[in-house]
Amino acid sequence: MYRYRLMAPGPTPVPESVLTKMALPILHHRTPAFEAVVEEVRKGLKWVFQTKSEVLILAASGTGAMEGAVTNLMRKSDVALCINGGKFGERWGKICKGHGLAYDEIKVEWGQPVKIEEVAEHLKNKKYRAIFATASETSTAAYHPIKELAALVKNDPETALVVDGITAVGVHDIPTDEWGIDVLVSGSQKAFMLPPGLAFASLSDKALKMAQESDLPKFYFNFLKEHEAIQKNTTAFTSPVSLISGLQEVLRLFKEEGLSNIFERHTRLAKAVREALKAMGLKLLAEEAPSNAVTAALTPEGINAGDVVKILKNDFNMTIAGGQDHLKGKIFRIGHIGYYDPMDMISALAAVESALVKLGVNLERGKSLGVALDILTK
Ligand SMILES: *Cc1c(COP(=O)(O)O)cnc(C)c1O
Repeated sequence: MYRYRLMAPGPTPVPESVLTKMALPILHHRTPAFEAVVEEVRKGLKWVFQTKSEVLILAASGTGAMEGAVTNLMRKSDVALCINGGKFGERWGKICKGHGLAYDEIKVEWGQPVKIEEVAEHLKNKKYRAIFATASETSTAAYHPIKELAALVKNDPETALVVDGITAVGVHDIPTDEWGIDVLVSGSQKAFMLPPGLAFASLSDKALKMAQESDLPKFYFNFLKEHEAIQKNTTAFTSPVSLISGLQEVLRLFKEEGLSNIFERHTRLAKAVREALKAMGLKLLAEEAPSNAVTAALTPEGINAGDVVKILKNDFNMTIAGGQDHLKGKIFRIGHIGYYDPMDMISALAAVESALVKLGVNLERGKSLGVALDILTK
């Protein structure tokens, strides 16, 4: 018997105290009792997002907040600049296309971070309403230079920086206000240690002004309406009350651990996984600028990465992720975002090592675990 272990980069495991909180009887959303919950959560989200501005709470998966950022900031006549370095970066362009918006796309080789000079060059040549970027590109495990991107438009009142921080908020230190990020998007099922269903979006003053000027059709994802509502400690439509109560407990856990300790834990787990996989003789997809949320490893010639995923599922009752699109069969991805500790990483690495041996890879058993333990238990 193996206990089920969810080690994918989202959805991620939910702590016991959060599960218990969400199992309590349903509160009515238009009551002082629930408004007190939202008030606390609202303060906590500002703290996690490192912003004085409001952070909207939407009942949607992360993509809902991404779509909302596009339809609320853009106008019909505007052009967007989308950075596409993987499945999620590609989504920004797809959303623009879906709404009939003009956009230019910077294609980045999968696994690489975007080159700032290339973005700066685009900005010199054309007026863009917004840059749509990804902080941690979950499909490739690459981390993009958000601070540098923000610096490009921080003092430009006509161009916003919108960041998909869905696997970055609560993992990497991203000081929203200090860097000048206009919209930072996240979701509940990654570092927030909740079930899927909540999306978040911070809104700078610049973003708010742009939302006032936007002439695109919208209804459910109306950021101005949500902004008004959150200031009254509520949401525009029926609140996902159980998830928000769960979030209240998550924020309590975050406070208990401390933001810098949360970042440090993710940094350490990620480093241990990367070094251990290298000790197994594997190459990492994102060597130059790796995300601390997820690690993607390439399997050796002749070994299908999908088989590693399958063996982990069948032999160890463990879920990790494979590759997408042209990386299918070539990489597997281990999530270390959210409710994980050093021993979780040891389990995942031990299982991966066993799977590789089963597939005929010649490696020294246990070496990678020693490498990981040295980093994890320092
Ligand atoms: C998970 C994820 C998303 C959101 O996906 P949803 O399925 O809509 O929650 C977006 N961007 C990144 C980088 C992600 O990891």
